[in-house]
Amino acid sequence: MKIKCPECSKAMKRDESRTERVEYDGEAMTVEGLAGWFCPSCGEAILDDESARRYGEAGDTLLARSRERLQAEIRRIRKKLKLTQVEASQLVGIGKIAFSRYERGETQAPAPLVKLLRLVDQHPELLSEVGAL
Ligand SMILES: [Zn+2]
Repeated sequence: MKIKCPECSKAMKRDESRTERVEYDGEAMTVEGLAGWFCPSCGEAILDDESARRYGEAGDTLLARSRERLQAEIRRIRKKLKLTQVEASQLVGIGKIAFSRYERGETQAPAPLVKLLRLVDQHPELLSEVGAL
């Protein structure tokens, strides 16, 4: 059986015990014993169903951990600044329900909001200026 790489059209090679590293948001996991077809030229892979499932689960785990870290960070910053959720939502100009969802991890907080919170975390003296904007 020959399979051509969908990316570069070179011949792919069968491997039953591949180890792949999955990375997301600065954290990595190693998934061992992956079976599938691998392109020696460009690195593309077509995993068997069971391997694709395990590889996907590793990605899901990293994504979930990243969200947990983010929601914990948002809460930590808010508490450090001694703000209620309502005050924090007014500070950054969003609804209090949205802020609560970000803090509980129900919704991924938008990157600009996170950057703003980190800025105020590093420079709490800017708090009143941010609130006045
Ligand atoms: Zn390829």
